[in-house]
Amino acid sequence: MNLSVSEAQTTANISYTVSFPEAQAHYADIEMHISGLKQNVLDLKMPVWTPGSYLVREYAKNIESFSAEAGGKPVAAPKINKNTWRIAVKGKTAVTVKYRVYANEISVRTSYIDASHGFLSSSGIFIYPANMLHQPSTIHIKPYQNWAKVSTSLEMVNGDPFTLRAPNYDILFDSPIEVGNQDVFGFDASGVKYEICMYGGGNYDKERLKKDVHKIVEQEAAIYGENPNKHYVFIVHNHLRGGGGLEHLSSTVLGASRDAYGTDKGYQSFLGLVAHEHFHLWNVKRLRPIVLGPFDYDNENYTTNLWIAEGFTEYYQEIIVRRTNLYSPENYLDQLAGEFNILENLPGKNVQTVAESSFDAWIKAYRPNENSNNTTISYYNKGAIIGMMLDLEIINDSKGLHSLDDVMKYMYTEYYKTKKRGYTDAEFKQGFEKFAGKKLDDFYKNYINGLTPVDYNKYLGYAGYKITDELADNNDPALGLTTVTTANKKVIVTSVSRGTSAYIDGINVNDELAAIDDNLITDASSMLNGKKTGDKINVGIIRDGLPLTLPVTLLKSTRVKYKIEPVDNATPQQLLVRKKWLSL
Ligand SMILES: [Zn+2]
Repeated sequence: MNLSVSEAQTTANISYTVSFPEAQAHYADIEMHISGLKQNVLDLKMPVWTPGSYLVREYAKNIESFSAEAGGKPVAAPKINKNTWRIAVKGKTAVTVKYRVYANEISVRTSYIDASHGFLSSSGIFIYPANMLHQPSTIHIKPYQNWAKVSTSLEMVNGDPFTLRAPNYDILFDSPIEVGNQDVFGFDASGVKYEICMYGGGNYDKERLKKDVHKIVEQEAAIYGENPNKHYVFIVHNHLRGGGGLEHLSSTVLGASRDAYGTDKGYQSFLGLVAHEHFHLWNVKRLRPIVLGPFDYDNENYTTNLWIAEGFTEYYQEIIVRRTNLYSPENYLDQLAGEFNILENLPGKNVQTVAESSFDAWIKAYRPNENSNNTTISYYNKGAIIGMMLDLEIINDSKGLHSLDDVMKYMYTEYYKTKKRGYTDAEFKQGFEKFAGKKLDDFYKNYINGLTPVDYNKYLGYAGYKITDELADNNDPALGLTTVTTANKKVIVTSVSRGTSAYIDGINVNDELAAIDDNLITDASSMLNGKKTGDKINVGIIRDGLPLTLPVTLLKSTRVKYKIEPVDNATPQQLLVRKKWLSL
């Protein structure tokens, strides 16, 4: 922390009591007590976003019944902007504030409370005194009815699980709290006490999960050479259909489908999520872009480096699962080909660079619309591909001596541990160059800040692999759109891909596809049966309630479907790179 605070502001004593008298209606009631005040005006604020999820979510929208009192008498607490309440405290040393938070959004970055549990995503629950982010606070939890457990990485006070201590607000906002009757089990790994806290039930096998998560944790710690926590908590929310994850300093929140643990695909995907969010405890929570900490909780925090923070984490989540042998090399290569297919089938790859994708996460990635595929890419997806390219480049150039692991460890040691700050774009580039043994100006110009197509065979070739397109011989026509079929069997256009028949000849999102050449459309998947590339057809649509016929020339589908295969007669150098890359 590096805040300039006045003498008066450093002495406050802050505590919160969180109770749930109406948990069944999704409410938490918060009482905040501040004493030791010496200033004239106290501004209380709620963060507008939560680190790791790059969207202004306006958490203050869920606050109601805000009131303040001092010396047993009410004091005015008017709002002065969307997330700040101002209290005149001249002559008063202590203030008590009460408010309610409505928490009814199931996600890993929002709070959710019902009669079965309370999940507190701290940045949307706790208001903080302006300019006092460095202040410690104590949190008392008063559980609803029979709730018996609290799971969080915050420290208990005097061994009481319902009394917690946050050393400052950055840590409080980075420490979600689960209250209820979750299933808690744990293990020790790389010197850290791990807890897995399962809410919502599910067909998981505790012993298997402990064993496999243990392997992932050890593999990740080995990259960085240390595990900086003492205690780490996986809070897992199991729902009928759940997903997603959000990283924190010493914990993570994961969403899962409660029946997903029973299938190979579902279980592997859960382990991938575990590997991803846990990898973040180094990459982004500690080794971070320079603007991502100390955070500005009032505004967007812009960085062009989410392709490292998220993309490399996406790359490592799969490589790590491969290293634990929970994936075969073939599993891994299939998954990697899937990443290629996502990028290559996105018209946005010709429009938005990965650095732009990162910077605009706040207004584009988290706010997609029907045209997003035409204009944007994902810094997760392209970042993972760049991770692969640089990993293979470094392994190849160093003849198997180094890999991307060395860059990550070096950057962590150099910036988080030694310089105790985040990295700039130029500094991370220097980190790559150190291990690649060459300048990467062209690489950055082409792939980070440019739109040069990825030469997959060049990079995979280092390890004796190549891509083939399973659809290369396909000459089938395609309209180039996606649809949804409504309950009354109407086929409605949901997206139109740039450069395709539908795009060029003017079919729009929200058009109802009614007929092709006088044949009524009842099933979107078979509407082009019997048609050939080059055919001219008439598409009958209904737009805004009015019928319209559009002449359309059918173009060949441009979709690719890559798979990764070994080259014939791989050289000793290629086999050496392959061995190092895939931990064979
Ligand atoms: Zn992530």
